[in-house]
Amino acid sequence: MIIVLIGPQGSGKGTQAKIISERLNIPHISIGDLFRSLKGKLKKEVDYYINRGELVPDELTINLLKKVISKKECEKGFILDGFPRNINQAKMLQEIVKVDLVILIDIEDELAIKRILSRVSCKKCGAVYNLLTNPPKKEMTCDVCGEMLYKRTDDNIESIKKRLENYYKETEPVLSFYKDKLIVVDGSQEIEKIAEEILKKLGC
Ligand code: AMP
Repeated sequence: MIIVLIGPQGSGKGTQAKIISERLNIPHISIGDLFRSLKGKLKKEVDYYINRGELVPDELTINLLKKVISKKECEKGFILDGFPRNINQAKMLQEIVKVDLVILIDIEDELAIKRILSRVSCKKCGAVYNLLTNPPKKEMTCDVCGEMLYKRTDDNIESIKKRLENYYKETEPVLSFYKDKLIVVDGSQEIEKIAEEILKKLGC
């Protein structure tokens, strides 16, 4: 099964993708995480766009995605978190795989901004926390692997506003591209409640 998660920054796509991935036993592919894990010249290139709150060019993004989804562990399906982020990417994806379901996690900008400003992550295992609503047990330390948590450099107010602007301009139109496969969940609810709603809609 191939699932696409769409939603504004801070809607909780990554958190929900992890839960669905465990439940369905299919990999979670976060394009943002893939970009952040790059090294050397390519990292410098993508960081230029990420730090400005802009989308990384489509060709570079799709090439990276193609490499990942050609791996054996993606044979039975995967969850895409952060792709496609524009119509061109949606069309490119359609040429290589058949998407089964698209989930929109919907939230208001005000909540999105509040959440992103209090978001911290673990570089080592990818766990994500919210210092207000879902804090780690020990201050700035990952519950899962014990590594120090960090704040993403692009999680500042200027970048967030730019990213949200891009979301409405570039990503929201993708929803009509997927109108026959789309389900919508209210992302303002608690993590467990959203997960429950999604899993119920998936028949799990
Ligand atoms: P995220 O971790 O999903 O918030 O993504 C962080 C940043 O990575 C975004 O602000 C973009 O600069 C870049 N990015 C993530 N997904 C894509 C995509 N599908 N196309 C282009 N750039 C992307």
